[in-house]
Amino acid sequence: MPISEQRGRRPSPSGAAVASPVHSRLTVLSGPSGVGKSTVVAELSRACPQIWISVSVTTRRPRPGEVDGREYHFVDDDEFDRLIASGALLEWARFAGNRYGTPREPLNAKLEAGVACLLEIDLAGARQVKRVAPDARLVFLAPPSWEELVRRLTGRGTEPAEVLDRRLAAAREELAAAAEFEVTLVNTSVEDVCRQLVALIEDCDDRSLNFALPVWKAERGRHSGPPDRRRHHQPADRRAS
Ligand code: 5GP
Repeated sequence: MPISEQRGRRPSPSGAAVASPVHSRLTVLSGPSGVGKSTVVAELSRACPQIWISVSVTTRRPRPGEVDGREYHFVDDDEFDRLIASGALLEWARFAGNRYGTPREPLNAKLEAGVACLLEIDLAGARQVKRVAPDARLVFLAPPSWEELVRRLTGRGTEPAEVLDRRLAAAREELAAAAEFEVTLVNTSVEDVCRQLVALIEDCDDRSLNFALPVWKAERGRHSGPPDRRRHHQPADRRAS
């Protein structure tokens, strides 16, 4: 059933809400710009080609090395307007002066075929997906610390100063929303996060997984930590300290 027809949960014969197996194949990875989402997703795509990764549409200009149709479908503002007007986007959001959106049809086709799907999108997009696909699993990728996030964002060297400022402001907002997500993974190592993400996507309940918890330094006090309802895996060795 396409996502557009999936608002709410199907009632079971007993009247209780049940999760749709189609929805549960959908995972959303979010987290602040610069945290390393796209590196994790690139590693996951290499290691697990059976997981389908949505290619978003954006009005942002390609960065050096980015290829149209691979990292993004790069479009102009008029084309993005047309996509919105025709309902071709499952969700879309403005981010640091550009627009980004998830094409609806390719995702629906994969979900209907029973393929595990991953979206790598911002907070506003993740909230929209949760509204239209309540059983989608929302995963938050956190940096080991605020300082590390700033270092990664500024070290990238691909954005002018005012864009960086906007991305840092957005990052503060996104970090404050981490508690809305069911699972938080801390990006201490791309391989570890990728392994944890694959386990979540494939719904394996591997208790040996070593999920680290975020440890905020500059942000400490601003971030009260996740509520109990979230899946919480205490790491055996707390590397993110
Ligand atoms: P970047 O310009 O660094 O590639 O991406 C900026 C932000 O846009 C990132 O947080 C990324 O996750 C988010 N983003 C990428 N694609 C989408 C999308 O289709 N929808 C939404 N809402 N955000 C997206």
